[in-house]
Amino acid sequence: MVWGVPVLPVREQVARECVNIAYGFFSPLEGFMGSADVDSVVRSMTLANGYVWSIPLVLDVSPMTLAYMNIEAGGSVLLTYQNQPLAVMDVEEIFTYDKQFLARQVYGTTDVEHPGVTRTYALEDQFIAGPITLVNPPVINPPFDRFWRTPRQLRQSFADLGWERAVAHQSRNVPHSGHEWLMKGAWLAAQAEGVLVSAVVGEKKPGDYIDEAIVLAHHRLREGGFFLEDVHQTSILLWDMRYAGPREAVFHALVRKNLGCTHHMFGRDHAGVGSYYDTYAAHEIFKQLPDLGIQPVLTLEWWYCPVCAGVAYEGLCGHRDNKQDLSGTFIRSIIQGGTEPAPLTLRPEVLEVVRECAESYGFGSPFVTEQYLENRTPVMSMHDMNCTCTNGNH
Ligand SMILES: [Zn+2]
Repeated sequence: MVWGVPVLPVREQVARECVNIAYGFFSPLEGFMGSADVDSVVRSMTLANGYVWSIPLVLDVSPMTLAYMNIEAGGSVLLTYQNQPLAVMDVEEIFTYDKQFLARQVYGTTDVEHPGVTRTYALEDQFIAGPITLVNPPVINPPFDRFWRTPRQLRQSFADLGWERAVAHQSRNVPHSGHEWLMKGAWLAAQAEGVLVSAVVGEKKPGDYIDEAIVLAHHRLREGGFFLEDVHQTSILLWDMRYAGPREAVFHALVRKNLGCTHHMFGRDHAGVGSYYDTYAAHEIFKQLPDLGIQPVLTLEWWYCPVCAGVAYEGLCGHRDNKQDLSGTFIRSIIQGGTEPAPLTLRPEVLEVVRECAESYGFGSPFVTEQYLENRTPVMSMHDMNCTCTNGNH
């Protein structure tokens, strides 16, 4: 208790959420939710004050830890990460909530095969709520540091670039030509000045693309001139996907609104997993939310069509029987096969950067392996607050 308050070490997910709350990614939230907000979000997809919000954000603690650390409502607690101070929470409430009910409402299922349901059931039984203050801003390590911008910094960069309309692209993939045209189509549809790639960087599982490849491949599209320099930028969002389908689509829209985006593109199966949600469930949910403060750009699929001899749009191309889906599986087979793809599926420039990332960051693989999970440089590190050196040369 060096800080004179109980100390609570938090896991990576919670640390990321603290950072997001502190920097305004999750505005208007100023801390982890109390029971009134959680219940309102779960039941009616709004905070208790009526503001639309779709995903509960809670800080879970076991009853044993609460008692052992003497954490009480009305007191403060120091949240630590990587053995360093991260944030102080003013504990306003300690409560429990029915996790099964939460899962059914948020994910539409209580099936433990659903990763969001699994994440919910893994929560400890008590939640502590209250505003947080960051006391030790984390360091974002290369190569992510140049893509890390707070909402305030992003809004400033939009202003500097003259972006009055910016359309967000949520990504956790290396961009193939379908993604590229999704972005270009949404940019046109929104009559936007800019496209913001907001790459989700968070918990990974074996087989996912490594974060470095996702971010640097998107950036390569701009470097390669496929987007003009002043109409495209890549940024990261520290977030653990819940795969909540339509509810997560709403959450993504709310976060990108906070980044200064006026529009957000939503393609097929946004934030879905398995077959839990209809392909265009995310499109449907926005019909109920006309005043969200950010405009959804709802798009169908882009595929490669040999008859059109190019990347074609589902809403235009009449050769559905000839199409080549630009599916994740197909693109992965190109990357793994080591053969050069047709330029209209995956750009050679993108493939090159993916292969470079495999060597530089992925221990030989562009996909997450156990070795990567164990040995990668963390995206986020903490300053050693016990360090007494004053020259700044850490
Ligand atoms: Zn066609």
